[in-house]
Amino acid sequence: MKKQILDIIFACFDNWSKQFGLACTKGCAVCCTTDVSITAPEGELLLDYIVCQHGARWLSEKLDTTPLHRPLSQTINEYAKACLEGRESEAEENRVGGVCPFLEENICSVYPARPFSCRCFASTVCCHHGGNALLPAEYLSAATAVSQIIEHVGQFSLWGTMIDVLTLQAAAAGHICPAGHAQENLAAARGNCLTAIPLPGFLIEDRVADKVHGLLEEIFAARIAGKTIEAILNNR
Ligand code: SF4
Ligand code: SF4
Repeated sequence: MKKQILDIIFACFDNWSKQFGLACTKGCAVCCTTDVSITAPEGELLLDYIVCQHGARWLSEKLDTTPLHRPLSQTINEYAKACLEGRESEAEENRVGGVCPFLEENICSVYPARPFSCRCFASTVCCHHGGNALLPAEYLSAATAVSQIIEHVGQFSLWGTMIDVLTLQAAAAGHICPAGHAQENLAAARGNCLTAIPLPGFLIEDRVADKVHGLLEEIFAARIAGKTIEAILNNR
């Protein structure tokens, strides 16, 4: 069920984002770093794809040779909750990770199963040769709102960087042997990962609300086995 929900969310966002004329093309990949956060359902999707397409040994080698990342301080919904309750909260600062281990010759080797953070990282100007990515406010707002929904889907399970979450999920599934260096990575991943929390409400600026609500309504109205995603997410 969670995989179906993710598939619908990814498809709706992909379709909605076509209006922005994004400059991103295949082989343009300087934005592919280890600075990618994911939820447990996204990790499960990715792990299944990797084991099926590349094998557990391939994954084990990738995880074993990827430098450890420093932990994230809060999930997106924790940040949203703090803002909505009027508590002071710092947005996660821009982080510069190493090259993503799944990038091979500038092509994503897990492309069909890549998490939402990879799908929404984009730019309307080419930033391949330097400079910052540029995105309209409604795109950024929508990407944040969709990330919040995905965290809600994965509530009470792992939330963290792609490498940390995958390390823990691969070990739990018996795909990596927890010995030597892997043992250290596993301990670090356990300390780094946070727990996803339910959606506390959205952070959407009034000036872009109409455009973002259109996307959210499309996602919530989509149906799986006769039930809307909104009803499924609300346990109705
Ligand atoms: S965000 Fe920038 S570097 Fe990344 S694919 Fe798009 S244009 Fe290329
Ligand atoms: S998973 Fe794929 S799209 Fe995401 S950062 Fe790695 S190489 Fe890039």
